[in-house]
Amino acid sequence: MKIVVVGANHAGTACINTMLKNYKDNEVVVFDRNSNISFLGCGMALWIGNQISTGDGLFYSSKEKLEAAGAKINMETEVKDIDFDKKIVYAEDINGKKYEESYDKLILSTGSLPVQIPIPGMELEHVQFVKLYQNAKEVIEKLNTNSEIKNIAVVGAGYIGVELAEAFRLKGKEVYLIDSCDDCLGTYYDEIFRKKMNEQLASKGVKLKLGQLVKEIKGKGKVEKIVTDKEEFDVDMVIMCVGFKPNTALGKDKINLFKNGAYIVDKTQKTNLDDVYAIGDCATVYDNSIDDINYIALASNALRSGLVAAYSVLGKDIQSNGVQGSNGICIFDLKMVSTGVTEHRAKKMGIEVECTDYEARQKAGFMEEDNPNVKIRIVYRKDNRWVIGAQLVSKYDMSMAVHMFSLAIQEKVTIDKLAMTDLFFLPHFNEPYNYITVAALNAK
Ligand SMILES: Cc1cc2nc3c(=O)[nH]c(=O)nc-3n(C[C@H](O)[C@H](O)[C@H](O)COP(=O)(O)OP(=O)(O)OC[C@H]3O[C@@H](n4cnc5c(N)ncnc54)[C@H](O)[C@@H]3O)c2cc1C
Repeated sequence: MKIVVVGANHAGTACINTMLKNYKDNEVVVFDRNSNISFLGCGMALWIGNQISTGDGLFYSSKEKLEAAGAKINMETEVKDIDFDKKIVYAEDINGKKYEESYDKLILSTGSLPVQIPIPGMELEHVQFVKLYQNAKEVIEKLNTNSEIKNIAVVGAGYIGVELAEAFRLKGKEVYLIDSCDDCLGTYYDEIFRKKMNEQLASKGVKLKLGQLVKEIKGKGKVEKIVTDKEEFDVDMVIMCVGFKPNTALGKDKINLFKNGAYIVDKTQKTNLDDVYAIGDCATVYDNSIDDINYIALASNALRSGLVAAYSVLGKDIQSNGVQGSNGICIFDLKMVSTGVTEHRAKKMGIEVECTDYEARQKAGFMEEDNPNVKIRIVYRKDNRWVIGAQLVSKYDMSMAVHMFSLAIQEKVTIDKLAMTDLFFLPHFNEPYNYITVAALNAK
């Protein structure tokens, strides 16, 4: 069988490796328009902020590695068109060489693209996007060679914007973090958690400009000013991170699309077209917290969708477990993790929920060192009491707790069952009645 894969970043790489490792005698042909494979965007802020010394370690695969595994890899080769009826992919490399590749099965892993807002000034020098390795490298080179870049506006206070605000502060820059929402991290956290992150950023000198809509970037040739509906700021660089949209131009006329344009897939990653699968950021996920399809662009989802597609394409009866959108962030040592839906989002979606909140020290009270408070919120449905969300914040690394909540949401565990779940106790790690148990016991 001949399988063509379009896009070889996280989803594509996971899929290609799984196919080649577990099944023999198939031909796997890959096209990617980029010059590198498997760049971990999560390391971008760490690299910019000098928390890691080089970006070289932010790759775990390469053309050579995939070729050694048995794939035929065409890098810097963009797929321009696909004839889904004749099952042919048309591509062109950077030297203008054209390719026509037939397929038995097609895997679309074309990912996502940064959202561009239609405002004047986007063409100015030093307006930067943050997605690719090349984007990060360019920002770092500019910072290293232009000492006049002192004031930076980060537009978009989602997790990427917040991480970059931290990175630029660590670089000694003045940072304006601008968002039309009133808080940062609005998608993943309820207000009490968002406020903690706002306070943390402000205490480290990030100038929060929330509830402000960016209207224009001004400058003669290069960035000089950013203008919102309320204020304007003198800045030398603008980082745009207002979100990502699925990159589905190739299949949009033939494949059923979600409301944001992502390819709709079933739990085997198949689209409405026979023999065409979609994985990673270009496709929907099944979101167990709302029991419906959704769009959640995360590398963790991309990898697992790649595994599922690999097995599905090659005939194994396998289905995705669905996802919960589990995520984490660590800013100037303040750690936040969440999974599932927030109370705010559940209410917006018309899901009736209750929350149970609790705050306690991480370890037994008599443990004197490294024992900060942890704040937890568990969100559960009113009708059947299923746990559908959890959020935690602390200076302590309590991140592993979120995995249990992720599984609880996936397996539709009730808040009452969670309250009686066997959670171990050892003073070095937690309290006998730890915050998870007490929060669950306190549920109405
Ligand atoms: C700054 C940043 C930080 C992030 N941090 C995290 C994190 O901490 N945790 C987390 O889980 N996720 C994180 N993410 C999200 C994560 O990077 C994405 O979810 C992930 O990259 C999705 O992988 P993908 O393979 O589906 O798509 P992409 O990474 O978008 O890759 C798509 C690939 O398709 C190729 N392609 C597209 N169109 C064509 C075409 N027509 N022809 C040929 N090739 C094509 C592209 O060149 C690219 O290689 C972060 C993202 C960014 C930008």
